Amino acid sequence: MPFTDLLNRPLRDLRISVTDRCNFRCVYCMPKEIFGSDYHYLPHDQVLTFEEITRLARMFAAHGVKKIRLTGGEPLVRKGLTLLVSMLSQIPDIDLTMTTNGSLLPRYAQALKDAGLKRISVSLDSLDNEVFKAMNDVDFPVEKVLEGMETAQKVGLEPIKVNMVVKRGMNESSILPMARFFREKGYILRFIEYMDVGHTNGWRMDDVISAKEIVEIINAEMPLEPLDPNYTGEVAERWRYKDGSGEIGVIASVTQPFCRDCNRARLSAEGKLYTCLFAVKGHDLKSLLRGGATDEEISQFIARVWGRRADRYSELRSENTVDLPKVEMSHIGG
Ligand code: SAM
Ligand code: SF4
Ligand code: SF4
Repeated sequence: MPFTDLLNRPLRDLRISVTDRCNFRCVYCMPKEIFGSDYHYLPHDQVLTFEEITRLARMFAAHGVKKIRLTGGEPLVRKGLTLLVSMLSQIPDIDLTMTTNGSLLPRYAQALKDAGLKRISVSLDSLDNEVFKAMNDVDFPVEKVLEGMETAQKVGLEPIKVNMVVKRGMNESSILPMARFFREKGYILRFIEYMDVGHTNGWRMDDVISAKEIVEIINAEMPLEPLDPNYTGEVAERWRYKDGSGEIGVIASVTQPFCRDCNRARLSAEGKLYTCLFAVKGHDLKSLLRGGATDEEISQFIARVWGRRADRYSELRSENTVDLPKVEMSHIGG
């Protein structure tokens, strides 16, 4: 039975983090100083199996979830991920998609498509190698990500969306070149305001370039007009190029919070349910799964957690909330 939380928000969207590991060290997400060679990732037996993930996903679907996004860490570093995609793609009426850094797409795009993945979002923060490498911090070149996108397009994982996190002092000079390039390509580019996720990225409000500023920068060269959202709860505010050559999105999580319509739950790689990206605490589903609970019992637990949900961190955000304990982005996948 579909149900709502304390602020009357239904549960529609589930993000599943399949691993806490990643082959990049993006400075705003997994800074090297913290996620170094001595960092303790989850041991394999603490990570949900594909069977466990699929079992939970079916319960979430029964509760009204319509969209499942695989994320991480980097989802494609999880061994055999295409098998999970084929298992999840058998759940009826689910829009199945993935967010990836694109590095492994040349290798896996075809298999993902064959397994039933519908679309894909690829993260890329600049077309300038110097800037991009400074941001991914593992010397990974732009061309390889573009090659991943091309392969995804070729096999029909469309429409491709491109996510660009904008951080002041790092990549604001890349906003226009990215907009020009992806307008030409016909991919939907989405600009994401830099967020204070986790507590390792040293976030400061001064580092945020607002969605408004981003739209102004692009509009000055390529005039834009606002578009209606595709559906209630869509996080990206949509803008269309006035000459009809495509659209962009801006995700203004910091300057224009959208908690009011937030219908997303997040499942971490270790099987905890988070009801907010900025949650302090997750609800342990793995213990239930491994402790022999029935589907009915787990479903009721999920319903209870959602029924008590009152999260609206972004609406309450201030300089004072920055230092509150929070889960890391690489654990719950953005
Ligand atoms: N590794 C995959 C990727 O990078 O696409 C999936 C996981 S990543 C955590 C999901 C998304 O979160 C990416 O688009 C990434 O750019 C974004 N992200 C990570 N840290 C962020 C931050 N501090 N502020 C805003 N977006 C962030
Ligand atoms: Fe890895 Fe994605 Fe985080 Fe970058 S944003 S470090 S690619 S999980
Ligand atoms: Fe949803 Fe929490 Fe983000 Fe608000 S802050 S939009 S409740 S995830």
